[in-house]
Amino acid sequence: MLKKMTGALLGVAIASALGTAHAEDVKKVDVLLIGGGIMSSTLGIWLNELEPTWSLEMVERLDKVAEESSNGWNNAGTGHSALAELNYTPEDKDGKVSISKAIEINEAFQISRQFWSWQVRNGVLKDPKSFINSTPHMSFVWGDDNIAFLKKRYEALKASPLFSGMQYSEDPAQIKQWVPLMMEGRDPQQKVAATWSPLGTDVNFGEITRQFAGYLQTKPNFKLNLSSEVENITRNADGSWRVEYKNLKDGKKTETDAKFVFIGAGGGALHLLQKSGIPEANDYAGFPVGGSFLVTDNPEIAQQHLAKAYGKASVGAPPMSVPHLDTRMLDGKRVILFGPFATFSTKFLKQGSYLDLLTSTNTHNAWPMVRVGVA
Ligand SMILES: Cc1cc2nc3c(=O)[nH]c(=O)nc-3n(C[C@H](O)[C@H](O)[C@H](O)COP(=O)(O)OP(=O)(O)OC[C@H]3O[C@@H](n4cnc5c(N)ncnc54)[C@H](O)[C@@H]3O)c2cc1C
Repeated sequence: MLKKMTGALLGVAIASALGTAHAEDVKKVDVLLIGGGIMSSTLGIWLNELEPTWSLEMVERLDKVAEESSNGWNNAGTGHSALAELNYTPEDKDGKVSISKAIEINEAFQISRQFWSWQVRNGVLKDPKSFINSTPHMSFVWGDDNIAFLKKRYEALKASPLFSGMQYSEDPAQIKQWVPLMMEGRDPQQKVAATWSPLGTDVNFGEITRQFAGYLQTKPNFKLNLSSEVENITRNADGSWRVEYKNLKDGKKTETDAKFVFIGAGGGALHLLQKSGIPEANDYAGFPVGGSFLVTDNPEIAQQHLAKAYGKASVGAPPMSVPHLDTRMLDGKRVILFGPFATFSTKFLKQGSYLDLLTSTNTHNAWPMVRVGVA
């Protein structure tokens, strides 16, 4: 069975202010988190641990958390650690492969893993298999130039313990053992090469979000407002922020004063940043590209592929633009996805408005956006 999955590109930003709330009739919190995705829920967990006395409020426009980009079905779930993504190891004009970006990415992911392990130990996250699964990461290329590049990349990376256990092969029989589906029906004369690393992971960010939000809800100083859309953010005279939101079920409007506001609204972040009036928002624009994947949950096919196998895209391109064939664990099932196929939509959220692009374009960001489009 083939299904299609899509996601919208997103952005996050933080606005902060010190000071105390000023109007007696308005609810007051220390931190207001806008959006119920992986970003806001992760920050909520950090704050709960580091500042346990602070009051936190999360406002999410949909009926549940993790229904936009963070949902397992709306992203590829790669635990990006540069094991497979070739764009993190650019080659300079003398043919030398630089691994500094790959090391940076890998170290950042190890910190995420340590953070999640700590949350498992503290009982915040449940069984690790519910959100992270060991899935070998592979790079797969063909053609003499790409093969030479992959070999050099492998030689440069294998010295680092972060990439230990990585294997390299140009032997079709070995590669077939790793990824039989990718070798089936392939021209035996075609030169191919691959690296294979057992250290890769598949991550369900939606599940982490749900478990984080579920845990936060057990805390008396945390409040989750679902079906509630933030409509405006303004600065109070004392430096705090007034956040206005509407309950989309009954139309009731609420105002909260917050010392700190985190705009973790994904594709909804740009409009809110603009409403906040902070000058940093001026040059930001939303570029409405996304990715679609073909997904199969046919067990006969899914059981034949256990890897996240990345191809080669141009240097500097985001990992999302690289063709890949991915094993995923979603809703307790092993599935395979293939993509991404570039999509264009003027909506910034899956459940957003087709007017998003138009209403977020202004005199400040029109020119930067044209430049990105031309590039
Ligand atoms: C096709 C695709 C593939 C990807 N693959 C990977 C991958 O393999 N690995 C990886 O690490 N990352 C991947 N990503 C990126 C990753 O999915 C996102 O970076 C991440 O999910 C962003 O989380 P978030 O919390 O910022 O946003 P979201 O999960 O989108 O959450 C934002 C929330 O804010 C809510 N909201 C918006 N506006 C308002 C408002 N006005 N009021 C209240 N609530 C509001 C939304 O309803 C939503 O629930 C991929 C993304 C896409 C699109």
